[in-house]
Amino acid sequence: MRNIHQSNIDFESHYRNCVNGKGEPTKSQLLSCIDTLLSLYQQYNTLGNQRALYRLPLLLATDIAPATKKTLKMLYDERMARNGAPGRNVYDKLLEAAAMTCPFCGHGIPTTLDHYLSKGIEQYPELSIAPNNLVPACKDCNHAKGTHVPSNIEDQYWHPYFENADQYLWLGARLEYSLSQEVTVTYFVSGAITDADIKNRIEFQFNSLRLNRLYSKQAATEISGIEPLLRNTTFPSEGADGIRQYAIEQANARSSVHQNSWQAALYRCLASDTQFHRMDWIL
Ligand SMILES: [Zn+2]
Repeated sequence: MRNIHQSNIDFESHYRNCVNGKGEPTKSQLLSCIDTLLSLYQQYNTLGNQRALYRLPLLLATDIAPATKKTLKMLYDERMARNGAPGRNVYDKLLEAAAMTCPFCGHGIPTTLDHYLSKGIEQYPELSIAPNNLVPACKDCNHAKGTHVPSNIEDQYWHPYFENADQYLWLGARLEYSLSQEVTVTYFVSGAITDADIKNRIEFQFNSLRLNRLYSKQAATEISGIEPLLRNTTFPSEGADGIRQYAIEQANARSSVHQNSWQAALYRCLASDTQFHRMDWIL
């Protein structure tokens, strides 16, 4: 639920570039509806800034005729995503903006562009190549989002170009110890967020993308990775106090980068769990 700097790519020139080279009459049909598409894109950006994209109207076939929804949808695959396509440079530029982390899960590597509002025929094919509707994502998030289109304020994924959930401290974690001395980490959306709409949206995304499952696996690997270090800790003191100090240092460092990363939440949890400091869970 991280923010990505919005590109300055102009939709109209990108659209014209993608449409040029199409045969007639398709090219003329696609150019004839350009004002309608630009108007929809303007509304998209306005509602995006208002966190209200669920209110974006669906266009009718007659709104874009003689162009068709199918042709508009196919522009993405044929004229933008495919290697060598005229719009591929825009595809690559948008993908690079995410650096190394998927903004939806905050963990995966972005290898694809997700249509924030689906380009499905019954949804928003008119925005299939609209820059602000194309968000870098990892494959798992892209797959999990599927053809989702929000129907109300609470089932809207956080839009990385318009908003940033990282301004709220929303991710929590707790340790659970089994009788076989294994420790598991469970993640949850913190109850500290008082705004119900914001909390519900975060929970919607957290559950839809199965982030507890993703983060919990990473945390298990992290704990087993630091276990040898904890057994021999002398920093800054030995034993339980040294482990607590180590966890605090890690929590502060990780939180200063992204306070809702699974690492930050994990170390905050480790810093406050006295049973963990005693190390009796691995003895
Ligand atoms: Zn992801």
